[in-house]
Amino acid sequence: MRIDLHTHSDRSDGTESPAELVRRARTDGIDVLALTDHDTTEGWPEAAEAAESTGVTLLRGIEVSCTFAGFGVHLLAYLPDPTYGPLADELRRVLDGRTARLPATLARLRGVGVEVGVDDVRAVAGDTAAMGRPHVADALVALGVVGDRNEAFDRYLGPQGPAYVHRYAADLETMIGTVADAGGVTVLAHPWASRHNHQALDERGIARLQRAGLAGVEVDHEDHSPPVRRRLRALAERLDLVVTGSSDHHGAGKVDHDLGCNTTAPDQLDRLLDLAAAAAAASGRATPRVLGGCRR
Ligand code: AMP
Ligand code: ZN
Ligand code: FE
Ligand code: FE
Repeated sequence: MRIDLHTHSDRSDGTESPAELVRRARTDGIDVLALTDHDTTEGWPEAAEAAESTGVTLLRGIEVSCTFAGFGVHLLAYLPDPTYGPLADELRRVLDGRTARLPATLARLRGVGVEVGVDDVRAVAGDTAAMGRPHVADALVALGVVGDRNEAFDRYLGPQGPAYVHRYAADLETMIGTVADAGGVTVLAHPWASRHNHQALDERGIARLQRAGLAGVEVDHEDHSPPVRRRLRALAERLDLVVTGSSDHHGAGKVDHDLGCNTTAPDQLDRLLDLAAAAAAASGRATPRVLGGCRR
């Protein structure tokens, strides 16, 4: 059984539609797929329909942009009720921050002699509900300024780049509680992908998040080297956290992130689903079902 719990469609910054993503999971031999677009549930209905017709088991999720101790942290939220007011309101705030950042980013680019219009970005951003730097990167590629997204981040859009602009993100501890109140379950995405995250998310920090309701940590991710994975897995075992692995697939938007390049063990998925069922029961909310072949 192959389980991939972190993927993106073109409703955020992936390049495949939700249905294409689910069909690719089928052809690539993925049995259980989570769609976790950045800050939006826009892709859920289309992915659900594709899951029902292909037999791929689908977990509907979100990768929420958060902050903790001044650092940006990504939080994977699985199976929350998307109509829960505090969750919907906070996601709206994050998405508004994404939209508001675009003109500021383009002004910075103009400042270093690179002319890109809002229309250039909208033209490549397609159906996205979560405007982001990858779309600006795609516009730079289309205009021939850079060769690929990576080069755009390296030269202009990365945190040290001349066109970097801060945007609003949700408070991490509060969001963990909000997702639980919405009947969902949370996992820290690639917690040690950068040195900054590593500082804030040490064992004490992660234990604190666990007390706030955090269920697990994503250990097997391309941005974690083998020694980082070993240390993080040991930490997860000490704290008895769920351990996941996933591709963070973005279609053609990220190289070396093919579906299933990292996977989650079935017993760890079972633990997550048990915790999600308990959160759903405690919240009394109508949370999304796990759809498709391996339905439980
Ligand atoms: P944003 O959502 O606008 O803050 O942009 C961050 C997103 O850009 C991340 O979630 C990744 O999906 C993507 N990203 C970050 N660095 C790179 C890179 N070097 N190449 C391609 N995509 C990247
Ligand atoms: Zn992304
Ligand atoms: Fe992420
Ligand atoms: Fe991601």
